[in-house]
Amino acid sequence: MPTYSPSNLHFETGEGAYLFDKAGKKYLDFSSGIAVTSLGHNYPSLVEALKLAANKVWHVSNLHVIGGQKELADKLVGNCFADTVFFTNSGAESVECLIKIVRKHFNHKKYHNKYRIITIEGAFHGRTLATLSAGKQKKHLDGFGPELDGFDQVSFGDIDLLKAAINDQTAAILIEPIQGEGGIREMPEDYIYQIKELTEKNDLLLCFDEVQTGIGRTGSLFAHQAWNIKPDIVATAKGLGGGFPVGACLATESAASGMIPGSHGSTFGGNPLAMASANAVIDTILSKNFLNEVIQMGENLKFNLVNLKKKYPECITEVRGKGLMLGVKFNSPVSEIVSLLQENGLLTVPAGDNVMRLLPPLIINEAEIIQACKILDETISRWVS
Ligand code: PLP
Repeated sequence: MPTYSPSNLHFETGEGAYLFDKAGKKYLDFSSGIAVTSLGHNYPSLVEALKLAANKVWHVSNLHVIGGQKELADKLVGNCFADTVFFTNSGAESVECLIKIVRKHFNHKKYHNKYRIITIEGAFHGRTLATLSAGKQKKHLDGFGPELDGFDQVSFGDIDLLKAAINDQTAAILIEPIQGEGGIREMPEDYIYQIKELTEKNDLLLCFDEVQTGIGRTGSLFAHQAWNIKPDIVATAKGLGGGFPVGACLATESAASGMIPGSHGSTFGGNPLAMASANAVIDTILSKNFLNEVIQMGENLKFNLVNLKKKYPECITEVRGKGLMLGVKFNSPVSEIVSLLQENGLLTVPAGDNVMRLLPPLIINEAEIIQACKILDETISRWVS
């Protein structure tokens, strides 16, 4: 079905931060398949882990013990707020699971009317009907109505509006720490602390959609960890498998109290190949100095982008984001610069608010950042002249 309008690029191989097309042309990949290939392309320990797993068992159902699941769950819960995890195959499934946990939590406590979730304008939570209804983006919902009931949305950053939106039926607040598709919009820190306070006062669950921000992308395993607050539920996916489809929904024991045998399921979720990939990714991301390096490379890239903004003030209006999840806001249509950069061998991703996203693999080095900024500089200079 023509649901995408792909470019004419057809990549055949990849190595580290580079992709190669059929003609052998080299592209510096600052898109990572939209924040997915967290360890770049063809990362040796990841390839090895998947090859080993492929020589064992490809699939058994969750009716049996699946190799690697407990190990991955232990690594995840051992390094964040959570006590328990459900494995999925995608971001939307992880958020869908989050929504179900919220509803079941209050239903289990006999608050049958407490099911509504407040989301933030500009959010993107996925393309299933529930996650579309949560995101409330008109362009995504068009023609797919009626919307699923149970979601209220408030403007970005206005705590009074958020307060006013809470009623007896409100069960949770769902936030992306940095809106990705929305255009690299960071939630202000004081807003987050005020939201945390509101959830405590009103007996609401605090939920983060870390599908894009999670798994080291912003310099900590999960972006919310930089605020030092404890959420109740977090959905993640994208970078978790380094390119293998896998997601996870993490929760506290208390938030997930309604999730009992039979309440949720997935044929493929937690598949042995997915677990092997995700274990290899998490082992690398949690290895000594890896996340420090992400922070340093992020600062380096941001510094260079800010210099470009100074050089082209009429063209670049803002540089934003954190770690290796950065955005550059342009005055002219962002799709134009993204295509020109592609022609010049640099892959980036457009986002909302006329922002170009830079999402390099987390293994990016200084020389590659300098090369990317050189391509950006040359391309912008020709674009503006
Ligand atoms: N949530 C966020 C924050 C995302 O960025 C995305 C995808 O871009 C999703 C959910 C949906 O993930 P998927 O496309 O894997 O279903």
